Amino acid sequence: MSSYTRGLLIWTGAIGILLSSCSYSNHSSVPSPDSPPSANNSPATEAADSSQEVLNKGEDQERKLAIEPNGPPHRKLTAHDSNVNAATQPPAAIPTPTKQEDVSTTPVAEEASHSKGSSEAHEAAKKSTNSKLTTATKAKQKSAQEAEAARKTAATTNKQLSLAQLVRKYPAFIKLQGSSNSKQVALTFDDAPDLKYTAQVLDILKTYKVKATFFLLGNQAEKYPQLVKRMIDEGHVIGNHSYSHQLFTKLSDESFAAQVNQTEDVLSPMIGYAPKLIRPPYGEITESQLLWAKNNGYLVVNWNVDSLDWKQLKAEQVSANILKRVKSGAIILQHSGGGPKQDLSGTVKALPRIIEKLQDDGYELVPLTKLLDVAKSK
Ligand SMILES: [Zn+2]
Repeated sequence: MSSYTRGLLIWTGAIGILLSSCSYSNHSSVPSPDSPPSANNSPATEAADSSQEVLNKGEDQERKLAIEPNGPPHRKLTAHDSNVNAATQPPAAIPTPTKQEDVSTTPVAEEASHSKGSSEAHEAAKKSTNSKLTTATKAKQKSAQEAEAARKTAATTNKQLSLAQLVRKYPAFIKLQGSSNSKQVALTFDDAPDLKYTAQVLDILKTYKVKATFFLLGNQAEKYPQLVKRMIDEGHVIGNHSYSHQLFTKLSDESFAAQVNQTEDVLSPMIGYAPKLIRPPYGEITESQLLWAKNNGYLVVNWNVDSLDWKQLKAEQVSANILKRVKSGAIILQHSGGGPKQDLSGTVKALPRIIEKLQDDGYELVPLTKLLDVAKSK
C-alpha cells in the first residue's frame, strides 16, 4: 500500500578498534640498551603436533634460565599505534543514511510510514532509523569493548595458560602447522639476520630455488639491513620475532607490545610491509598478549617440527630431527642467526640434504603465507 521503497541498510563496516593501544598509553618510556640474542635464544617450547602435545617442558625451563637479564627497549605506545591499528582495520565509519535509506522496517517506523504525508510520521521514521543506527554503532563499540575487556581479564588473571591450552582455545590465532591436505611444508628460520650464518642459509635456498620464512629480530635487522633486503629480493617472507629476543611471558603487556611495535618500525621501511606473522621468542606467549596480537591484526605462528639445531647439533642430528617427524602441513623450525658463540654449522650443513630429501619425497617447500593461506602483511 505504501509507494515508498522501504528497506533498512545494515552497515557492516567494522569499527576500528583503537582501545587496545589506549590501555598501554599511560606508561612512561624506559630506555634500555639492546641486548643481542642469547646463545641459547631458541624456542622454549617444542611445538605440538596434530594432537597438540607439548614436548620437553624441562627444556623450557633450561632455556628460560638463559634469558638475558637486560630489559627490553621500551617505546611509548601512543598515536602511532592507533594509526597503525586504524590503517589495518576495516573502515570504522557507519555512513549517515541518505534520504532513500532513511526508512526503517521497525514496527514504529512502519506504522509511521503508513500515515502518508504526515510530517510526524517522517520524523518518527527518522528518529527510529537514527536510533537503530545508533544501536548498531553501540553494539559494535560494545563488541570492541568486550574484546578489550577479555584481554584485560586475561591479563589480570593469575592462571597462565600453557601453549597447548592456548592453541586449543584460540586455534585461529596461533598456528603450529598448516593443512595436511596438500603435500606442503614450510622451512622457517629464526633469529636472523647475522653475519655468520644468514647468508649461508640464503645461498642454499637460492641454489634450490626454495622460498622460506625468516623471523627476524629488530635489533639484528637494524645492524644488517642488507641481509634483510636480500631476503626480500630473493622472495622470502619476513615475520616479527621481537626486538631483542625477550621471553614474552616474563614481560608486561606494555613491554611485549613495545617489542612487537619496535621491530615493526624497523622492518616495515626495509621490507615494504608490516609483517602479519609473529613468532614469540622461545615460542611462549600469554593469553592477553595473544589477544592483543589478534586484536591488532597479527597471526602468531610457532612450529610442530623442531630441528633442535639451537643445541648446536651435528648436521646428521639436525636432519634426522626434521625428517623423522615431517609430514604434510609441517612447520619446521631452524635458526639462521645466533649469538656470537653459537655454532649453527650443523644447520647449514644439513640444509641441502633436508631440502633434497623433502623434495624427493614429493613435498613442496613453501613460505608460511602459502602454507597457511594468509597475507604476509597485517
Ligand atoms: Zn628465537
